[in-house]
Amino acid sequence: MENRPSRLWVKNPLAVFTANDLDASGGVVVEGQRIVELVAAGGEPAVACDETYDAGNHVLTPGLINTHHHFYQTLTRAWAPVVNTPLFPWLKNLYPVWAGLSSRDLELATTVALAELLLSGCTTAADHHYLFPTGLDDAIDVEVDVVRRLGVRALLTRGSMTLGEQDGGLPPQSTVQRPEVILADSERLIETYHERGEGAVVQIALAPCSPFSVTQSIMRDSAQLAEQHDVRLHTHLAETFDEEAFCLETFGLRTVDYLESVGWLSSRTWLGHGIHFNDEEIGRLGAAGTAVAHCPSSNMRLASGIARAVELEEAGAPIGIGVDGSASNDASNMILEARQALYLQRLKYGAELVTPQRALGWATKGSARALGRTDLGEIAPGKQADLALFRLDGLRFSGSHDPLSALLLCGADRADRVMIGGTWRVVDSAIVGLDTERLIVQHSEAARRLLASAT
Ligand SMILES: [Zn+2]
Repeated sequence: MENRPSRLWVKNPLAVFTANDLDASGGVVVEGQRIVELVAAGGEPAVACDETYDAGNHVLTPGLINTHHHFYQTLTRAWAPVVNTPLFPWLKNLYPVWAGLSSRDLELATTVALAELLLSGCTTAADHHYLFPTGLDDAIDVEVDVVRRLGVRALLTRGSMTLGEQDGGLPPQSTVQRPEVILADSERLIETYHERGEGAVVQIALAPCSPFSVTQSIMRDSAQLAEQHDVRLHTHLAETFDEEAFCLETFGLRTVDYLESVGWLSSRTWLGHGIHFNDEEIGRLGAAGTAVAHCPSSNMRLASGIARAVELEEAGAPIGIGVDGSASNDASNMILEARQALYLQRLKYGAELVTPQRALGWATKGSARALGRTDLGEIAPGKQADLALFRLDGLRFSGSHDPLSALLLCGADRADRVMIGGTWRVVDSAIVGLDTERLIVQHSEAARRLLASAT
């Protein structure tokens, strides 16, 4: 008997979105951590399977990939003082609250964010963590533990802030760090945790926060370090007109000129938001292959603007989808975020150009490209077996006809099953091995405590 991992046939789904031209109407065969075969309509796997999962009530998609988040912000959702503010006053009010974050708070916040993402069909998530108040030096280490416990994939970014209020920046002085501390910790995290190659579970990227919270020197040094260790670069850019004005006033540069001036205009970089670019800048970003994490809910919530996603994509910039941090969305739901992207981009480009397939493509293959992953984001032989299955027999889908369109148009908000690297992590819309009720109690208590200590 050949010694090989067991073969599972996810059989005859109601509909499949592969994110490519391949036909998987009869389902997919998974062996070990990978997809090994696609089955055509009415077909059978070429080699007999040990197990079959009947997906006759499900729409099957690649696992969704979230490209921008701030997990810690789940503790400050829907906080009254910032419900009706745009980005800058929103930040000014929240910084002092966030400054009180502890390791335990971050552990609970990360668990909540990843649990929500998982339940919405997400299998890989990027987090932008730039907050390192005294006592929270181990923030990324804490996140790695949670990621491993839940069995999701994550690209955790070592964020940073160096430009405090005293030096003309936005964040309070107590939340900024010295550059040498940031760079040493970045190197430590890459060496300790960054996995390379196919099937990587934990990866590290470097992520100075935004033009108005970091110095140009930390941008340059981070780019150099990323190059040296071959890891990715992430930052917020062109999110608001306030930011554009800050760049013009402080650096005498528009945002993309600023990006180029610090050595970031490259395919190593993916940008959070990327809203306010002119035609010439879109051309330059596309030519460089710089990716954009489109965050429609957050952009609407903060009234930041509408990203020019279709034009960026056509210029050559990979487009991914991000739910953004939970203080500006305030939900970590990837399938609903794909729906938001569909609708917000339709407002800009019309109904014909922005299809459900295009939006789902951004949330899967486009997001994978933004994060530099060629092994994820598609259903194809050889790709990692990261899959999301959504049931279409609930009330909200009753009377719908085209299953793939129904997924977004009827507003699917929960996956029934989620597989990561060949292992089921969500079964019957519940996370395997996680006591969600207990988590809610502990996380809510931490959120109350955090606000009480700050006000
Ligand atoms: Zn953000």
